[in-house]
Amino acid sequence: MSWTKCNKLAILSRNRNTKVQGSLKYQELTKSFLDTPIEYLKGVGPARAKLLFDELHVRTFNDLLHHFPFRYVDRSKFHKINEAIPDQAHMQFKGKLRGIRKSGPPRRPVLQAYIEDDSGELGLVWFKGIKWLEKSLKEGQEYIVFGKPTKYKNTLNIAHPELDLMESHQKIQEKPIQPVYSTTEKLTSKGLNSRGLERLIRNLFETNEIKMIENLPASVISSYQLAERSEAYKSIHFPYDQITLEKARFRLKFEELFFVQLMILQAKGKRQRLAGQIFGHVGSLFHQFYDEILPFELTEAQKKVIREMRRDMKSGHQMNRLLQGDVGSGKTIVALLCGLIAMDNGYQVALMAPTEILAQQHHEELERLTSNMDVRVELLTGSTPASKRKELLPDLASGKVNLIIGTHALIENKVKLKQLGLVIIDEQHRFGVVQRSKLWRKSKVPPHILVMSATPIPRTLAMTLYGDLDVSVIDELPPGRKPVKTIHRYDNTRLKIFGFVKQQIQEGKQVFFVFPLIEESSKLDYKDLMDGYESISRAFPLPEYKVAIVHGRMKSENKESEMKRFASGQAQILVATTVIEVGVNIPNASVMVIESAERFGLSQLHQLRGRVGRGNKQAYCILMTSVKLSAEARTRMEAMVRTNSGFELSEVDLNLRGPGNLMGTQQSGVLNFTIADLVKDAKIMNLAREEAWKILQIDPELNQKAHLYTFAYLNSYKKQHPDWSSIS
Ligand code: ADP
Ligand code: MG
Repeated sequence: MSWTKCNKLAILSRNRNTKVQGSLKYQELTKSFLDTPIEYLKGVGPARAKLLFDELHVRTFNDLLHHFPFRYVDRSKFHKINEAIPDQAHMQFKGKLRGIRKSGPPRRPVLQAYIEDDSGELGLVWFKGIKWLEKSLKEGQEYIVFGKPTKYKNTLNIAHPELDLMESHQKIQEKPIQPVYSTTEKLTSKGLNSRGLERLIRNLFETNEIKMIENLPASVISSYQLAERSEAYKSIHFPYDQITLEKARFRLKFEELFFVQLMILQAKGKRQRLAGQIFGHVGSLFHQFYDEILPFELTEAQKKVIREMRRDMKSGHQMNRLLQGDVGSGKTIVALLCGLIAMDNGYQVALMAPTEILAQQHHEELERLTSNMDVRVELLTGSTPASKRKELLPDLASGKVNLIIGTHALIENKVKLKQLGLVIIDEQHRFGVVQRSKLWRKSKVPPHILVMSATPIPRTLAMTLYGDLDVSVIDELPPGRKPVKTIHRYDNTRLKIFGFVKQQIQEGKQVFFVFPLIEESSKLDYKDLMDGYESISRAFPLPEYKVAIVHGRMKSENKESEMKRFASGQAQILVATTVIEVGVNIPNASVMVIESAERFGLSQLHQLRGRVGRGNKQAYCILMTSVKLSAEARTRMEAMVRTNSGFELSEVDLNLRGPGNLMGTQQSGVLNFTIADLVKDAKIMNLAREEAWKILQIDPELNQKAHLYTFAYLNSYKKQHPDWSSIS
């Protein structure tokens, strides 16, 4: 991100009076300096400049300044050799270099040696650069050795250690905390390894005293005693000690999160000041459903969130709300009840799902729930036939359709609604901020927006991706649900599992066997499914057992009849692909065996598990995996076994995969932080959000003089994050 551009914009974008003129000139100076192409930095030149751009996207001095170290090493500490721990961290030792010898075939030579102190010996090994090393290493001299000890054939070694003659110790001690920069093989081969980059950044600081204009309000700086901006930049690269380093990191993370939150909260504030439709009364549709159709009592949590939304929808401002709740907490009914309020007030409702299957399932369910009511529910997706479309579009435009359910197809310009009052978005982590914003433009007075997340979202992510929304949480499950017991088993215990399943069937339970179907490898997956079906049919033979099967390649009438066989209890077992992940509601099905469970993500596993445990019998979820598991897959299985809480699992998932992957590529762009980390910096995020909120309370447009540079920086930040600014 370009900080300097920000400053320029600040000046152009505002006709401020002259108090700041002096600093403006001065700013021009620093600005042009940081905008200088990297080629002109001492030690770079055209060839390296090209390489720096190709490999690291470093184009200007400013970009290099923002290539922060990814870790630091404390070179002031030495370990005894017998303290070496394998495969943990980089460690530093000192000792005499001994036993230099070359081995291996001539084309792939290996150089070995060891160092020795009074506690023991530690092996050193090199596979590259051997010629040069042979010449320069001095047997019997005292060296400082730095690297990560690893265990190989029962002895400890450091591969490619950093070696310094003891004589240079003094130099290392002068700057004990050494930055480590990420680099690439190509850069390394041109002398720009971590140390090479460090040298360039030193040159940068030496060429010019870098002054960064403070962009945080003075009040914020003083209440958290934040490091001053220029200081923070210097210390992040070349910290004097651990304390200054921590202060610099805190300051820069805070700054980054502060501006994200400022942007989000400002957009939110702006929208809250806009007019919204007023749903003044709760009418006959709502009451009919509530009194005559709803087959159960709502939970307190469901009532609470409905009250929250009701308050929004009659406030005169647009509702923008995220509805969070664990799998099975009953979000659909809540959404429908809100929809009925909209209809009671003469408005239409759109429900948008991320996939066709989901849209279809919503359509079926909502049509069923409202079948005895004077409500017309329709479905519009990419595969709606043209003839149906032709009939549907005019009815939408004239207001004859009350509830339209669909996919992205709903966003198309051709789709016109007479009186769109409420948009419900079933998120499934897939709609971006941008798509959401397109929907708000479908009518003059924007419709109310309700975003539902399929599984819980970690708090820090919610604050970022949905930070412009108010949040309602359904934090309780309907009564009578027994927590599902989850078990992890390896494939080689399949016979035992079959035995267990038979026992469960004897107790009158029904069983799902779920197979993965990943689009990219659908042929193989399909084969696995059919093989699985065969072996299950053999293990559970007719006439005692009946096995149904559904998958995407079946004709839909076959699919339906198979589903019916299972739903009616005729078949005890349903073999299926992930189609059943959503929608299926068969309370008697209380055992789920998930095959190749390691291939599913955590939120998907959690969604699947949510299909059982809806009746009053003890439910089981059995995760079958191969014996060989990656560490990550193992963590996933362990988490599933440990907890039934979707909120807890979402945190684990965030830790495992990081925010970008978690939310899908569409949104990863807005989660690209330079230094802040949504996983680790939740606390700083909270502080930053709080401060941003406070400032906007006092000065919503950031017009006050004390916020001049904050305003300027925010403006440029928005320009660089177009995804974000389209929220407003
Ligand atoms: P999700 O939040 O995962 O979308 P659903 O809306 O699909 O959950 O609800 C799960 C199941 O629980 C459905 O069968 C629904 O009818 C039922 N349900 C919802 N609310 C209640 C309640 N208050 N009491 C009993 N069952 C409920
Ligand atoms: Mg649902």
